[in-house]
Amino acid sequence: MIKGTVIIDGKICKGCELCIVACPQDGLALSASFNEKGYRFVELINDKCTGCVNCALVCPEAAITVYREPKPVKKTQAKV
Ligand code: SF4
Ligand code: SF4
Repeated sequence: MIKGTVIIDGKICKGCELCIVACPQDGLALSASFNEKGYRFVELINDKCTGCVNCALVCPEAAITVYREPKPVKKTQAKV
């Protein structure tokens, strides 16, 4: 399975929870603390992220950046 992760900008997150609902890996949750605007912001809570991008697509604030690990390069035997 492809491994991914997300970086969430907690300063602009408004805690709407759309990304939490959209994540098939149950990887996102509201933090216990608040940002400068008074919203509880979203955090990544497990390591099951596949980099599917669902969360970033639904976020109205564009607060989420998704990263995916590159696919492993297949080793080919050199022909002699
Ligand atoms: S990229 Fe997909 S799996 Fe990862 S946190 Fe976002 S919705 Fe969940
Ligand atoms: S969708 Fe965006 S604004 Fe809404 S809770 Fe998730 S990160 Fe925050």
